Amino acid sequence: HCQEDVNNNTPLEVVAKDSAPEFKWHILWEFVKPQLFALICAVVLAFGAAILNIQIPLMLGDLVNVVARFLRDNTGNYVGEITAPALKLLGLYGIQGLLTSGYIILLSRVGERVAADMRKTLFASLLRQDVAFFDANKTGQLVNRLTADIQEFKSSFKLVISQGLRSATQTIGCFVSLYIISPQTHRLDEQVAKATGVADEALGNVRTVKAFAMEERELQLYAYEVDKSCEMNENLGTGIAVFQGLSNVALNCIVLGTIFAGGTLISNSELSPGDLMSFLVASQTVQRSLASISILFGQVVRGISSGARVFEYLSLQPSIPLCGGGRIPHHSLMGRVDFMNISFSYPTRPGHEVLNKFNLTLPPCKTIAIVGESGGGKSTVAALLERFYDPSSGVIMLDGLDIRTLDLSWLRGQVIGFINQEPVLFGSSIMENIRFGKPEATDAEVIEASKQANAYGFVTSFPDGFNTLVGERGVTLSGGQKQRIAIARALIKNPSILILDEATSALDAESERVVQEALDRATRGRTVLIIAHRLSTIQRADLICVMSNGRIVEAGTHLELLSKGGIYADLIRRQRAEEKK
Ligand code: ADP
Repeated sequence: HCQEDVNNNTPLEVVAKDSAPEFKWHILWEFVKPQLFALICAVVLAFGAAILNIQIPLMLGDLVNVVARFLRDNTGNYVGEITAPALKLLGLYGIQGLLTSGYIILLSRVGERVAADMRKTLFASLLRQDVAFFDANKTGQLVNRLTADIQEFKSSFKLVISQGLRSATQTIGCFVSLYIISPQTHRLDEQVAKATGVADEALGNVRTVKAFAMEERELQLYAYEVDKSCEMNENLGTGIAVFQGLSNVALNCIVLGTIFAGGTLISNSELSPGDLMSFLVASQTVQRSLASISILFGQVVRGISSGARVFEYLSLQPSIPLCGGGRIPHHSLMGRVDFMNISFSYPTRPGHEVLNKFNLTLPPCKTIAIVGESGGGKSTVAALLERFYDPSSGVIMLDGLDIRTLDLSWLRGQVIGFINQEPVLFGSSIMENIRFGKPEATDAEVIEASKQANAYGFVTSFPDGFNTLVGERGVTLSGGQKQRIAIARALIKNPSILILDEATSALDAESERVVQEALDRATRGRTVLIIAHRLSTIQRADLICVMSNGRIVEAGTHLELLSKGGIYADLIRRQRAEEKK
């Protein structure tokens, strides 16, 4: 079904909508279904426990009746008479305890498994989304959904079922009121998430915030969101307080009334003291379960709204589907790329046209460099070729085929290699990091790729060699070493097209030389698109294109462009002047 919506560009507003997501019971059902047997067992056990809970006051009444009779008549064998009902009661306590722990064990099993399934499905669904989705959604909020929301949903789920079953057998009627104020709490939770999002973003990008002296504004944003959620919380708190206060008054009145009326009945010998005792204990139980219902009520609403947030992205389809579409067999793949009349603006900035009728051809096995001032749209060209976004108009062709008709996983996974200016390595071994480019690669292939990328030497100089851990908890690699691992990671898939996004601009001269050497080797026999920042690295490119205002305004070899004396010649002159300073 992947293929159906190849051209179906969901407008981003749908993704970034502000309203509270809806709770979809049928999705919950899909997750609960595999656990149905355990859930039913839990329900049966919980029901048993609840029924015993009703029995216990009655048994207590029997006991009190024995005591009362003994007090009144002062005859008979007290121990003999009390033993049987006492033992029976003790037995009931025991069974009740067993049933309770039984259903709690089952419920927590169901809850944990449902939550684990949800986490995995949600994570998979997030990974599937377009890059535009991540432009529009704060990472912090997404991570929150994976952790806090699912946690919340899980504990709500468990609590609601266990408490709910117990309370329901005694006070079914109260459930109706649960839904009445629910929309309010919905908004409340959204609000908390929003506030967290602001904080998360500000903290995550603290350098940028500081560089622009924007602390004050971020603080104001956060304070505004927090105040809003504080107000909503207070309103909800008041609601719960009033509900609980009223129900307490009502129940205390019942107790008073029971004692009053019961006392009258006893004095007329129409009721035994034991019956009154049963009645009082029973009404206490009802009171307790009513009190827990007001807590439970908050929990149901919270569970529903966190569940809804989790479900929101489960059913969200990326507008660029990951699979489906054609492939070109490796041996007949030329690696020719044509950008034809491409216009594009980022979904998060619809008014701002980055590319405007952009045309460019990447001939097979040639190296094309794009230069131009920063912000001119060079990286955007690469992002479009990777299909991180689809152009607003125009077509990108690979070997004459519209890339929108091609299988995206194949395109990204096997055709295009991407080497970024600031490579990100994952917190695992070097071996795994290189293999990330081709999961089925053998150790020998990894080693071969590392040789091509000039990385073999330094990797084997580590005591653990390819098993050396990198990332936050592993060894710290220099920029040039990271870069070479990233090159190996791109080379291992033997891509026909290689995109180098300012691949050498962050390095010192010595690392740049080794990296450049690796790159020269890597680019041989492939179609290469260089997004260039430093002009020195691209002089040998087959074609240099100068970008301005979303189009290519000059193209030619280094020497051609120099002698032309246009923008490129100007850039070179400026760069030389800067180097002299
Ligand atoms: P270059 O690579 O030439 O420096 P880019 O292609 O990165 O330029 O950026 C071109 C324009 O698009 C810039 O104005 C930039 O602010 C904007 N832009 C880049 N990435 C995004 C994004 N993910 N969302 C919105 N705007 C973006």
